[in-house]
Amino acid sequence: MHKAADKPLGAALVWCRRDLRAHDHAALYHALRAARQVWVVFVFDREILDALPRVDRRVEFIRDSLVDLDAQLRTLGRSHGTEGVGLIVRHGRPREEIPRLAAALHVQAVYANADDEPAAQARDARVRGALADAGIAFHPSKDQVVFETDELLTGGGTPYAVFTPYKNAWLKKLEPYFLQPYPIGRHAGALAPLPAAAQGGVPALADIGFEPTNLAALKLAPGTAGGRALLEDFCDERIDRYDQTRDFPAVKGPSYLSVHLRFGTLSIRELAKPAWDRMRSGSRGAEVWLSELIWRDFYHQVLHHHPHVVERSFKPEHDKIKWEHGQHAEALFAAWCEGRTGYPLVDAAMHQINQTGYMHNRLRMVVASFLCKDLGLDWRWGERYFAQHLNDFDLAANNGGWQWASSSGCDAQPWFRIFNPVSQSQRFDAQGRFIRRYLPQLAALPDAALHAPWDATPLDLAAAGVVLGRDYPEPIVRHELARQRMLARYAVLKASR
Ligand code: FAD
Repeated sequence: MHKAADKPLGAALVWCRRDLRAHDHAALYHALRAARQVWVVFVFDREILDALPRVDRRVEFIRDSLVDLDAQLRTLGRSHGTEGVGLIVRHGRPREEIPRLAAALHVQAVYANADDEPAAQARDARVRGALADAGIAFHPSKDQVVFETDELLTGGGTPYAVFTPYKNAWLKKLEPYFLQPYPIGRHAGALAPLPAAAQGGVPALADIGFEPTNLAALKLAPGTAGGRALLEDFCDERIDRYDQTRDFPAVKGPSYLSVHLRFGTLSIRELAKPAWDRMRSGSRGAEVWLSELIWRDFYHQVLHHHPHVVERSFKPEHDKIKWEHGQHAEALFAAWCEGRTGYPLVDAAMHQINQTGYMHNRLRMVVASFLCKDLGLDWRWGERYFAQHLNDFDLAANNGGWQWASSSGCDAQPWFRIFNPVSQSQRFDAQGRFIRRYLPQLAALPDAALHAPWDATPLDLAAAGVVLGRDYPEPIVRHELARQRMLARYAVLKASR
C-alpha cells in the first residue's frame, strides 16, 4: 500500500494542476488519508494564460475536464453522504491564490502532484515559501510518471542518458506495487462541502477571457470519461497490433491518449498496467506501446536532471551549429508552419497540427527532421511552434522529440541521418490516404505521383487539375542539395570533437 502521512490533520487543500481526475490521484489520496476535511482547487494560471491567443484548444480541454472533475468530486462526496462537495476554481496567480485560499480555509497543509518542468518548480518553490510564511506545509507527491527523479540511476549512480539501458532497468524495477491505483473512494468521507465563496462552479471559457475552439467538432472528448473511452477502444484489441500499425498516419494505430496523459484525466498507472499485463501474456503490440510510455518517463527524468535542455542542446557542441537566419530563414519557417513546403507528407502533417492540434508520431519525426536538416532551421523554432499548437504539448516529451530529431539530444538519432521526406511518404502513406485527407487539391493525382508532385508527368498533373506553383507549391528546397548543406553545417561537430 502507498505510504500515508504520519499524523491526522484538521484540514488540507489539494491543488490540481496536470492531474484533472478524482481517482488514482496521489496528492488527493495522501490528503484524504491525512486530514479530516479536504478541499480541491484548480487555478487558471494567469501567468500562463495571459500570454496565449484567445482561441486555444488546451484551455477549452482543461475547462471542460474541470467540469468533469467537479462532477466526480460531487459523486464521491455524495457516496459518503456529504452534499455540496465540488471543485474550487480560481483565476489568478497561484503564488497568491493558493496561500490566500489555504489561509481562508484554515488548512494545515497543501498537497499537490510533483511537476518536473523548471517553470513549474519555480512556481511551486514560491508557493511553498508563501505557505511556509503562514505556517502551512506543502507536500508534493510522485504521480505523473512511474519512476521519477532518482528512482532509476545507472550502476555508477548517474542518470541514464541512453534509452535502452534505461528501459531495461525500468522493466527490471517494475513490480505490481508501482502500478497500483491510489484508492480514493474509501477515504472520500473527508471531502468537505464547498465554502460559500466558492460555489460558483467552473467558470465558462468567456469568464476567463477565451473563445470556443473546434474541440467538439474534433470529437476530442475531455475529462476522465473521454480518456476512458479512448483507452477502452485502444485496449480492446488495437493495442495488440500497435507494433504493426503505429507508423502509418492514415491508420487508426496509436491510442490518441497523449492529451489525457498531459492533463492527467487518466493516470499513467492505468495505462501502464494493462500494457504490462498484456505484454507479459505475449502481446508484442503491448510491449512496444509500453516502451513508448517508458520514453515518456525517460524524457521526464532527462528534464529533471538536465534542465538546461529547455534553452540549450543536451550536447553542448550542438550549439555551435550555425542555423539559417534572416529573412530567408523566416520565409522558410513560415512555409513550414503553414504547410507550403511543396513536400506533400510534410505539408499534410502541418495541416493536421494546425487544424486539430494533434500530429501523428511518425510525422512529428518527419517534419522535425525536415525543419532542422532540410531547411537548416534551429530546432528551437520548431519546438516553440509545437509548444503553441499541440494539444498534448509536454515540455519533457516535446523537447526530447525535437532534440532527438535534430541529433542534439540525449540518445538522439546520429547527426548524419536525415529522413528523406519522399521515401518516408512512399513507405508510410503509400496510397496517399493521409495526404489526400489534408491536401485535397492533390487528391486526383495517381498514388505514385502524390509523394513528389514535381516529378509527376505533365499528363498526370493536367488530368488531376494541378498546376504546380498555383494549386500546390514547388518544393522550397531540393532534398539532395539540402542534405549536402546539412552535412556541411553539422561538420562543425566533427571539428569540435
Ligand atoms: P501512442 O503511440 O498511443 O503512445 C502512447 C503514449 O506514450 C503517448 O500518449 C505519450 O504519452 C507516450 N509517448 C509516445 N511516444 C513518445 C515519445 N517519443 N516520447 C515521449 N512520450 C511518448 N508527446 C507528447 O505527449 N507531447 C509532446 O509535446 C510531444 N512532442 C513531440 C515532438 C516531436 C518532435 C516528436 C518526434 C515527438 C513528440 N511527442 C510528444 C511524442 C509522440 O509523438 C506523442 O506522444 C504521440 O504521437 C502522441 O500520440 P498518441 O497518444 O496516440 O501516442
